[in-house]
Formats: sequence, structure tokens, C-alpha cells
Amino acid sequence: MTAYAVVRRDGEGALWEGKPKPPGRLDVELTERCNLSCIHCYINRPAGDREARVREMSTERVQAVLRETAALGCFTVRFTGGEPLLREDFAELYRFARRLGLRVLVFTNATLITPEIADLFARVPPLEKIEITVYGMSPESYAAVTGVSTAYRAARRGIALLLERRVPFVVKGALLPPNRHEQQEFEAWAATIPWMRKRPSSLLDLNLRARRDSHSESARIEALRLSPEDGAAIRGRDRARYRADMAEFCGKFIGPPGEKLFSCGAGMGVGSVDAYGRVQTCLLLRHPDTVYDPAAVEETAVSEAGLSAARVRLFPAVRELRAQDPEYLVRCARCFLKGLCDQCPAKSWMEHGTLDTPVSYLCEVAHARARDLGLLAVGERAWEVTDWKSRVARLRAEAAGVHEASDAGGEERDRTWRLG
Ligand code: SF4
Ligand code: SF4
Repeated sequence: MTAYAVVRRDGEGALWEGKPKPPGRLDVELTERCNLSCIHCYINRPAGDREARVREMSTERVQAVLRETAALGCFTVRFTGGEPLLREDFAELYRFARRLGLRVLVFTNATLITPEIADLFARVPPLEKIEITVYGMSPESYAAVTGVSTAYRAARRGIALLLERRVPFVVKGALLPPNRHEQQEFEAWAATIPWMRKRPSSLLDLNLRARRDSHSESARIEALRLSPEDGAAIRGRDRARYRADMAEFCGKFIGPPGEKLFSCGAGMGVGSVDAYGRVQTCLLLRHPDTVYDPAAVEETAVSEAGLSAARVRLFPAVRELRAQDPEYLVRCARCFLKGLCDQCPAKSWMEHGTLDTPVSYLCEVAHARARDLGLLAVGERAWEVTDWKSRVARLRAEAAGVHEASDAGGEERDRTWRLG
């Protein structure tokens, strides 16, 4: 009989005692293709794209990736896409990963969940909650976002199949013009899902095309973006809690980063694997200088997925990369908002095709958030501020006072939504 019930927890057990923590999670993009055609998607290709299908990793190749993942001591794999359930061998790959003892996080739009797939998740639990992105609360908004008239019904059917079998899942949103008016309805519905312990997150700062494959599609995504002020208002609408959380976050994580490009986790763990078997430092970063392609290396054995080689040959060098762009050196390298700001090599790549060109939209978003938190005055530029530590200390002190008052005095009312 096949055993699926292997549960291992990070950092637990004699195997890891006295040793560095095992690498976190491997993201595997099973395909770039998707059965939906969302207006804001950074990666999708049509479901019937034969050229993409032919180039995708074979079943054996994905299995080699999973074997190497487990051998590296990694506990969790995320199957993402495109839409991972589009792959005909999804069930086979899922079972293979679970037999290796890997926890599997499936990231899906739920429209292709069949009774058979739901039964499989019930019989062989993924050990991670499935993550479902929801594009609206009506057939109309769903169709406007996804370009598919039947998407709402299909997604709700998939969700119902999981609920019937008590397969744990969480939902996320994507705040877009066709569904903005449904956001509160979405949050109220999400609160009825048994495994949703907090308000669902919603994608706010849209990414441009990660393959830089279509200027017109990137321009369309750009036009869908929230204004920085609206984004700040939405983030901060649960006022007291948000300020308390952000005060703590800023106290720990913001400050000028200097010239080194990577202050995030990219290249620290096992990385991610794209649909064609290339190993990336992170899922979003597809700049050729940061990608390891095992197929291009002559001595690579067929059974090697290239994860170990990438960790030795590429990741350490990538993490040492330093900014060259003069604008970055003047601004981002000295900016205390780094941490609050999403500027990073992946975002520079998607917007500009470089690793270090500042992204104006993200800069404006970070400045709007900082103004909202009282860290910046109108007209101030974060990279010119020198007394940022005392500003953060003031935010922390104020947030602590407000939080105490809020705890003692009852519930803080949600701020009125500024979006129509
Ligand atoms: S998306 Fe950016 S911040 Fe996140 S891991 Fe990749 S490079 Fe780092
Ligand atoms: S706020 Fe602007 S200057 Fe600061 S890190 Fe972000 S993009 Fe760079």
C-alpha cells in the first residue's frame, strides 16, 4: 500500500538539530497556459498554445524536480501556473509529490476542479490549504475580468466540490475595475469559508508581463492600476489595526538598503522552476542573468533538475549583485522606505528589462503609504529624509497609544471606502 501520511515540520526532528534550517518552499510553475484570460495577468498564455505546451516540462522532468526538492530537505512545493490543473498529468504529479512526503500548495482559479480532483485532495490531503483566486461575486464581473462567460459558475462549482469534501482552502482577490464594487461582498462571503481566519488579501499593485512579451498587454495592465492614494486608503481602512501592524513592521524592516540589490529572500532557498524547467531565484524574476537553465549546461545528467547546481553556481553570485543605475544609487539605495516599497529586481525587470531601474509607480505607492502613516509630509522625498528613525519611533508610540485606546474603548470603525 502507498503511504501518503508523511508529515514533517520545518526545523523539527533530530535530522536538523544544530544545522541550518532547511530551505523553505519550491515554486513550480507547471504551465504558463491558462483556461482564463484575465485582464491583469502577468504570465498567462492561451490554454491551446501548442508551442508552449510542447516546450513545457515533461512528467518525468517535473518528477526529477520534485525528487531533487525532497533530497535538498525542502518540505513544501507550490504548484502554480498559469493554471496548474490544465496539465493532463496534474493528478499523477500531485500523487508523486505527496509520496515523496512533500506538502503541496496548489494555487488555482478553481474552475477545473472536478469531482475526481476534489476526491483526490480529500483522499490524499495536500497538507497545505489550497489557494484560490476569486475574480468577482457575479457572473458579469467574472466574465469582465477573465474573458470567459462561464468562469463564475465553474469556479463556484469547484469551490463547492472542495467544501462538500471538507478540503481546506483559502481565497484571495484581485481588485480590478470590474469587481471593485463587490469587494465588501467578497470579504463577507470569504468570512463564511471555514478555513479563512482573517480578511482575504487582494492583489493591489498589479505586475506587468513577467516575460516582457507584449507591450500592449503591459500597457493594459498599467491602466488598471489603482491610484497610489486609493491603494493606501484600502490598505489602511481598518485604521487602528493597520497602524499597529505597520508600526511594528516599520520598526523591524524598513531602512536604506545600500547598493546591494537583494535584501529579500530571492536566491536564499531552493528558488523556483518555470514551466520549461529553468531555475529562477524567485518566481517573478526572469532576467536572464538570474536564471539557471540546466538544459543549456552540457554535463547536466537527465535525472538532474538543476536545483542544487543553481544554488551553488548562480544564487550566491546573484545575491551579491550591486546596483549600477545612477538613479537607483541616488534614490533607492538611500531610501528609508525600502521594505515598505515593493521596488525590487523582479519589478525592475518587468517594468524596464533591467535589475535596478526604479519603478515610478511603486515609488509613488510607497510615498502615498508613508504619507498615510505620517512618515512623510506632502512633497517630501523619502531618500532625502535623514531623521527617519525618529519618525518611525513616533509612529510606533502613537500606534501603541491608539491601539490601547481602541482595545479599551471598543471597535475601531472601518474607514469609509474611497472607491466607488
Ligand atoms: S519578487 Fe522581488 S522582492 Fe520578491 S523575492 Fe523576487 S526579487 Fe525578491
Ligand atoms: S520609495 Fe522610491 S526611492 Fe524609495 S525604494 Fe521605493 S522606488 Fe526607491
